[in-house]
Order: sequence, then structure tokens, then C-alpha cells
Amino acid sequence: MRRAIALSRRALATESGPPFGAVIVRNGEIIGEGSNHVHVNNDPTAHAEIMAIRHACATLKTPYLDGAILFSSSEPCPMCMSAIYWSRIAAVHFSTDRHAAAQAGFDDLALYKELERPCNKRRISMTQTIPEEGQVTFEIWKNDCRAAIQTQLNEDDGTM
Ligand code: ZN
Repeated sequence: MRRAIALSRRALATESGPPFGAVIVRNGEIIGEGSNHVHVNNDPTAHAEIMAIRHACATLKTPYLDGAILFSSSEPCPMCMSAIYWSRIAAVHFSTDRHAAAQAGFDDLALYKELERPCNKRRISMTQTIPEEGQVTFEIWKNDCRAAIQTQLNEDDGTM
């Protein structure tokens, strides 16, 4: 955790982005780390956790980090939390929480609240369009053996 906090200080010192850092560990070894690079990369998705996941996955040459633990200097935002699920990281530890982040002027808490609202009550509208045409690739996917490598979240609905 102290390494993650040190990386948040690096983001501050180098002005790569706001002060956030993350480290991913598996079997007692650091396999990835990152600091916020939103400003320097002109990339709104370059959060510390995303950078650490990209680093670990590139190093291990896999999109999945089963059994890994992510340490973040602050509670992951909804985007990063989703990426953590997608990457199959097993557990997360964080230092400051979404409320402390809100006090510092960050939107993590607001985004969590936004996601709790029904789609038609959110600030950004979401409208389903020509679903039957989009469904075609799902049918191809379902009939393909690659479907077996999907995450297990669909099968575990309601139990997580
Ligand atoms: Zn994030």
C-alpha cells in the first residue's frame, strides 16, 4: 500500500495527473504498477488502476490476473472497479475512500451514485438502437468455442 501511495505522490510531482497510484501483487511479487496519467497521456481512462492492470497484463501476456491483489492509494472509481472485475483480480485494498476523494474534488462518489439511478434518470442518456442487428455477432460468438473463456459473472448473477 505504501508503494501505491508513493506512486500517487509521483503523479503529483511529475504532473502526469491527479494523485493516484496502484500496485498489483501476485504470489508476493509486484506484477504491475501505475500512476494516474490522464493529463500527460490526454487519456481520461489512464487512471492508476487501469495503468497497473495494463502493465501487469502486458508483462504476463494475458488479459486475466486471477489470484492477484490490487493495492490502490484510493478506492477505485466505477470504471476501474469494472476493469478489476474484467481482469479477474481477486481482491482490492485501498487507502482513502470515495468520500475523501469527493472532499478533494474528485467525482468517484458522484459516479457511484449516478450508476444507482435508472438509465433514463442519468445525466448521459442511453438509448437502445437496432438491437436485432447488434445481436448477430452475439449469435456467432455463442456458437463459437471462444464463449467458454468469458468471465463467470453471468453465471453467478445475484451471488456476488
Ligand atoms: Zn478509476
